[in-house]
Amino acid sequence: MIHLRQITKRFGPQTVLQGIDLDLRPGEFVSLLGPSGCGKTTLLRIVCGIEQADLGQVLMQGQDITRWPASQRRFGVVFQSYALFPNMTALQNVGYGLTELPRREATARAEEMLALVGLADQQHKFPAQLSGGQQQRVALARALAPRPRLLLLDEPLSALDAQVRHEMRTEIRALQQRLGITTLMVTHDQDEALAMSDRVVLLAKGQIAQQGAPRQLYEQPASALVAGFVGRMNWLDGQVVAEGRVRIGTALLDCDTSAYKTGSVVRLGVRPESLRLLDGEGAMIRARIDALQFHGAVTQVLMRCDALGSALLLELPSGEASGLTEGEMRGLRLPARALQLFDAPTSMRRAA
Ligand code: ATP
Repeated sequence: MIHLRQITKRFGPQTVLQGIDLDLRPGEFVSLLGPSGCGKTTLLRIVCGIEQADLGQVLMQGQDITRWPASQRRFGVVFQSYALFPNMTALQNVGYGLTELPRREATARAEEMLALVGLADQQHKFPAQLSGGQQQRVALARALAPRPRLLLLDEPLSALDAQVRHEMRTEIRALQQRLGITTLMVTHDQDEALAMSDRVVLLAKGQIAQQGAPRQLYEQPASALVAGFVGRMNWLDGQVVAEGRVRIGTALLDCDTSAYKTGSVVRLGVRPESLRLLDGEGAMIRARIDALQFHGAVTQVLMRCDALGSALLLELPSGEASGLTEGEMRGLRLPARALQLFDAPTSMRRAA
């Protein structure tokens, strides 16, 4: 549907995007995720046509549209700030871009789109008379009304409060699937990207660090950078001491070391929900509960483990955490399957 080939963009001396290759398949919802300043918005603007790449091509169904102006591309765009016309009603806003249709048909189409986003009864209100969530629905209806070939969403939910944001996630995704419209969304919110997308593209320093299904990025991160950005991770530094065995502090842990030679200095990552507490006194690794934080369905347990020489964050279903008290010692299990090894930072490798 859309193919980006070797997109490179510089602002003065700064290279913001470097050789980006990205394909959007028909009907797919793809999120561009990454830390602030990594170039997400710039890439979206290049796809949209409001920014030009210095090098590389934007192809649409095989056609080179790199130099096409935004208006010729006919993509629908929704911005964080809604960008509605304040002096027009919701209906007029949605109908604004439908200049190619006879007036009556344009109005009917605008009404249909407002109904689709659940605002049939609000069509004569002005933006200032609508809530943030409703304004964003109007912006979405306006973007979709001309039947765009591609929908571009630039941080569409970040101006909304938490509850509305959650509702809108579900609504936008359901609407996108119902219409089958190919969608590219920029977000810095990893929950949002994981929850809404078919595929997440993680950008870092102007390059694609990894792309894949949300579960793939979470469960098989390609680097420590990806693992740290997508979900939370406990990091432990250590060394591979034998095949299948890593030493962390004074503890020896079993895990898959197949990617590393014996003697390698490594960084071990383990997700907070993968750690387990044991009752028995005989557990090899013991840790002290420093703090308990109740979050409704889950409880976060902050522990200090002398053997590992580190603090650890655990996340337990609250039902399992109800008997725990701050200050008590517990056995700790780090299941081999949940331990992932990554390259240690260069400074650590040198020191070793
Ligand atoms: P954020 O999540 O904070 O919006 P982002 O990943 O979307 O970040 P971009 O907005 O694409 O990042 O910006 C990437 C880099 O390019 C930043 O360092 C920014 O300062 C720079 N930049 C963006 N637009 C321009 C411009 N028109 N002129 C100069 N530098 C720019």
